[in-house]
Amino acid sequence: MAHAADYFSEEQQLMIKAAIVRAERATSGEIRVCIDAHVLDDAFNRAVFWFEKLGMQHTKERNGVLIFIAAEDHKFSVIGDYGIHEKVTQQFWDNLVSEMKSFFSKNDLTGGLIYAIEHCGKALAQYFPYNKDDVDELPNEMIFGDR
Ligand code: CA
Ligand code: CA
Repeated sequence: MAHAADYFSEEQQLMIKAAIVRAERATSGEIRVCIDAHVLDDAFNRAVFWFEKLGMQHTKERNGVLIFIAAEDHKFSVIGDYGIHEKVTQQFWDNLVSEMKSFFSKNDLTGGLIYAIEHCGKALAQYFPYNKDDVDELPNEMIFGDR
């Protein structure tokens, strides 16, 4: 079975990390991308599992956003901690999901992820602007599950 990391070249991984770094320059919020090859239960539950496992609930302003995809299954879920979740509308998530689907239907996982990072970054920047004392609370590298 393919490893989750096999779905992204080194260059694509660097592009995705760079998009996170860029987005976080405008916000105190923290964005992470986590990839599994397959998801056994639904993508939302798996995203919640990763969110907690990665300690994303410990940001000071509760403004972490996790973009999870099961690369082989083209299933995905984007979840935000309650700080950001209470600020954005359902429309925000719905638009995000439909755009991501259109990238993934063209097999463009990297494009979909970068779109999602930028889209979430804009919302985070609006409600949690960057301040000069900002700490990079969570690493920007992609996370790959292995199972
Ligand atoms: Ca930060
Ligand atoms: Ca970060």
